[in-house]
Amino acid sequence: MTATSFSSLPLSAEQQHNLSELGYATMTPIQAESLPLILAGRDVLAQAQTGSGKTLAFGLGIMQKINPVFFGIQGLVLCPTRELADQVSRELRKLARALGNIKILTLCGGAALRPQIESLSHGAHIVVGTPGRILDLQERGQLELGTVKTLVFDEADRMIDMGFYDDICAITRACPLKRQTLMFSATYPAPILQDCEGFMINPEKVQVESLP
Ligand code: ADP
Ligand code: MG
Repeated sequence: MTATSFSSLPLSAEQQHNLSELGYATMTPIQAESLPLILAGRDVLAQAQTGSGKTLAFGLGIMQKINPVFFGIQGLVLCPTRELADQVSRELRKLARALGNIKILTLCGGAALRPQIESLSHGAHIVVGTPGRILDLQERGQLELGTVKTLVFDEADRMIDMGFYDDICAITRACPLKRQTLMFSATYPAPILQDCEGFMINPEKVQVESLP
């Protein structure tokens, strides 16, 4: 039987304590399946229905590798929409409490560029955003992705549907080859996500069936 308590995971004592403070007692099925692989550093392609707790799975993967004293971007999460990016940032901020002073920026299109460039100039540990704006900032030389350790494609199926494939390719090329890549999706349209497997090295595939 799969262990369902977070205490079975190789997380810091601070993060274990933080999770219980947050009221997260047992892992959801997708967390139980994916977290041992994610925390072991594997590339993971995970599919589970909406509301199954995918954010916490990649969030703990990002946090595990953050060096709080280095103000360079170590985690990058790509999301299809501003609303989803805001949701992810909120969830990540809860997990970041276990590490101390962690700066998480949300960078999406539809907002003015200047304030985003200004906030980046102060340094950040994690960036969450939509592919178009992330690529724009990177191409302008305002977003240094060469220090990324964890690259996450959240709702990859929707990002591909929305035509972000080329942007995602360009962003991935700006990240180091030596990184962990995690891909999360609610559906698994084989031909599209097969393309995305090219971003990953020997990915472990994890799938949790929807309830009927
Ligand atoms: P998904 O991305 O799979 O649609 P989310 O990551 O947005 O799902 O999570 C949905 C909700 O479940 C969030 O409110 C989150 O705080 C909550 N949640 C996640 N993991 C757990 C857990 N292990 N125990 C209790 N609640 C959880
Ligand atoms: Mg989600």
